[in-house]
Amino acid sequence: MSQSRRDFIKFVVVGSVAAGCPVDATLMAAPDSKSGAAPQVHGEHFEICHQVRDGHQFERPEATQKADVVIIGGGVAGLSAAYFLRGKEWLLLEKEDHFGGNAFQEEYDGQPFATGSAYAFRGDEGDHLAKEIGLTLLPIDNPDPTIVNKTFVPDTWKAGIDQLPYPKDVRESFRKFRDDLMKIKLREKMLELDAQPLSHFTAAYAPEVAHWWDAYGPSNWGATTADTSAFVGIGAAQDLASGEDAKRVILPGGLGCITHKLVEVLQPKYKERMLGDATVVAVVQDKDAVRVTYFHEGKLITVSAKAVLMCTPKHITARIVLGLPSDQKTAMRHIRYAPYPVVNVIFDKPVYNRGYDNWCPGNSFTDFIVADWTVRNTPGYKQKNNILSFYTPLRTDQRSTLLDEEDCKSLAAQVLADFQKLLPEFNVNPVEVRIYRRGHPMFMATPGHYTKTRLAAAHPMDRVFFGNADSGGPESLTSESIRLSKIGTEWADLVLAGKPGAKDLAEKALQAAAD
Ligand SMILES: Cc1cc2nc3c(=O)[nH]c(=O)nc-3n(C[C@H](O)[C@H](O)[C@H](O)COP(=O)(O)OP(=O)(O)OC[C@H]3O[C@@H](n4cnc5c(N)ncnc54)[C@H](O)[C@@H]3O)c2cc1C
Repeated sequence: MSQSRRDFIKFVVVGSVAAGCPVDATLMAAPDSKSGAAPQVHGEHFEICHQVRDGHQFERPEATQKADVVIIGGGVAGLSAAYFLRGKEWLLLEKEDHFGGNAFQEEYDGQPFATGSAYAFRGDEGDHLAKEIGLTLLPIDNPDPTIVNKTFVPDTWKAGIDQLPYPKDVRESFRKFRDDLMKIKLREKMLELDAQPLSHFTAAYAPEVAHWWDAYGPSNWGATTADTSAFVGIGAAQDLASGEDAKRVILPGGLGCITHKLVEVLQPKYKERMLGDATVVAVVQDKDAVRVTYFHEGKLITVSAKAVLMCTPKHITARIVLGLPSDQKTAMRHIRYAPYPVVNVIFDKPVYNRGYDNWCPGNSFTDFIVADWTVRNTPGYKQKNNILSFYTPLRTDQRSTLLDEEDCKSLAAQVLADFQKLLPEFNVNPVEVRIYRRGHPMFMATPGHYTKTRLAAAHPMDRVFFGNADSGGPESLTSESIRLSKIGTEWADLVLAGKPGAKDLAEKALQAAAD
């Protein structure tokens, strides 16, 4: 794309690189120019995060507040915990100035779109919770086309396999890969498969097969075939081939529609218990209580809680919970996270409405999603803007790209340029391009994570429960965040009542995901 065309389009850089790091709020102020062609930048938090990473000790004042349960982290795990705990006295502390974490929706001209997390499955915990709070998630048709070699292929892993624009032997290799993987007894071989990389299973086929999975894997679980647990990769391949992917459901805004609605439901009644810009810097378990120290409105405050639900990712949790057994802390820090920006490209006219999640191996993005896909055929609905969300997971050694605003804009420009070359009809200019950057949003489903690391990382303490998507699996799933938060609230009930069995309940819930 020429520089002049790029200058013509408004590029907006949004999001905190180090979302999830404890930061000093006084240093969070960042330029927020909403006018003119200047990019909007919200929060560039990494300097302070690095201080925390490097062991900066915050003062821990005496407790001046009390709560039955303190929930730390206001993503979908924390918000759903607050929802399940409605009858109790809880306090929710969230570092950012908004709730939602990685399931956060934004809007353009009144139209919601996702900044990350995309869809649930019919009947999963996300779908159930959505229904309970008044949202009906709609089914996704045409879920997984591929666009490659200037060809649109619907339904990649079923009938589409015959239409892949590759030589016949490569298409045959795709088919053989699919059929061979369908024969594997996944559950029976879970431990063995989880111990090895998916690349062991792609090596015998045409390179195009691994190439396809090197887009699908990073987008769905943050890792290429070489870094992916074979248990996770083969499970995904079986789901695609058997039609499980047809169970997907969502509304515009992706899974941010659920967190958005949870905030709407909770805030009128519990506004004073839901603190944004409240960064927890220390969690200390004593015999009868847990002291949680957080930074809010320029002050460090300590609240004494009977129980704490940690809904932060483990790379943060390991740094703020004091007194963790060393093997547990090591396991938490062993979990790897992918740097993962999402680029939203907004067209003021229809450009693409042929499939939901479009796989595009070999580009600066892995796939892109049509934001209003499931409502497009609703009677009376008129698409005002065609908003496409491009998934651009990076390798961990590319994380620093996100620290530099110009690098972010270049990445977004590359996404647009790659899209415009995919099919001739895509050579259209958008009205706006937004890049939402996140440094560590998705744990990588690496070998061993599911059957070993997460279990070692998430043992509960007497009064501290370790939730968040990274306690579940096998990949990062909103439904797992919600499932574990539900268990976390039952665990808290037992702890508050001084009844036995809390630890067992939590351990069983962790194992349940692995069954
Ligand atoms: C690009 C992308 C696409 C995805 N697509 C899907 C999908 O299609 N389907 C699906 O099910 N899942 C998807 N996921 C995964 C899903 O988004 C996550 O599993 C889910 O949002 C995790 O929610 P959580 O509440 O467990 O954690 P998080 O969203 O990580 O929330 C943690 C919260 O804790 C806050 N926090 C961190 N540190 C502190 C602190 N010290 N003090 C206070 N607060 C703190 C953070 O700001 C954050 O709000 C996707 C993820 C990404 C990144």
